[in-house]
Amino acid sequence: MDESSILFEGRVERVAYPIVVTGPSGAGKTSICKGIVGDCPDVAYSVSATTRPRREDEVTGRDYHFVDEDRFRELMGAGELLEWAEVHGRLYGTPRFSVVPFLESGKKVIMDIDVQGGASMRKVFPDGVFVFVIPPSMRILEERLRNRGTESEEVLRTRLRNAREETRSWRQYDYLIVNDELDVALDRLKSIIAAEDSRLRRLIPGS
Ligand code: 5GP
Repeated sequence: MDESSILFEGRVERVAYPIVVTGPSGAGKTSICKGIVGDCPDVAYSVSATTRPRREDEVTGRDYHFVDEDRFRELMGAGELLEWAEVHGRLYGTPRFSVVPFLESGKKVIMDIDVQGGASMRKVFPDGVFVFVIPPSMRILEERLRNRGTESEEVLRTRLRNAREETRSWRQYDYLIVNDELDVALDRLKSIIAAEDSRLRRLIPGS
C-alpha cells in the first residue's frame, strides 16, 4: 500500500487527550482553564473534588464537587480518584468520572491542578500535555491573591509561602506560560492545543 494512502482512509481523527494546567495558586490557572472551555467546544473542564469550603461565587458540580473528608476518603478508597493531594491544608482530587468519559467521547479534558497533582498525572497520562503557568512576578502574585479577597490573611500567607516551593518543579513540564495578560495567555494555550492536535502521533497512533 502507498504510504500516503493511510492519510486518506478516514484515519485522521479528532484527537482526545488531557491538558494538565498547573503552577502556583494565584497564577491564574482557573481563569485560563475556564477561558479555554468557554471558547473551545471540544475541550471539557475536569471538575475536581475538594474538602475546601465553597466560596460565595462557586457552584457545586461546576467549579468543584464540594465534599466532606469522609466522602473524599471514600472516593480515594474506591479508586475513584486519578490523583489527589493535600494543598494548603485541604484535600483536592481528580475524579475518574470528571475525565475518562470525556476522553472516551473524543473530547480533550483540561484540568487545573497543583504541582503534586501534575506530577501524579504524568504517570496516569504520559501522553498528556503538561503546561506550567506562572505569574510575571511574586509581587504580582501577592497582589492577585489579595485582590481576589477570598482568603484570610493567614491562608494568604500560606499560599504565598507555598508558591515559591510550587514553582520549583517547572522543568518537568512541556510548556511554560507567563500569565501577564489573560487574553495573551489564553491565545498561547490555544496555539499549544492547535499544535498538539496536529501531532502525527496523536492523529495516527503508532506513526
Ligand atoms: P483553590 O482552593 O484556589 O481553588 O485551589 C487551590 C489549589 O488546588 C490550586 O493550585 C488548584 O490548582 C489545586 N487543585 C484544584 N483541584 C485539584 C485537584 O483535583 N487535584 C490537585 N492535586 N490539585 C487541585
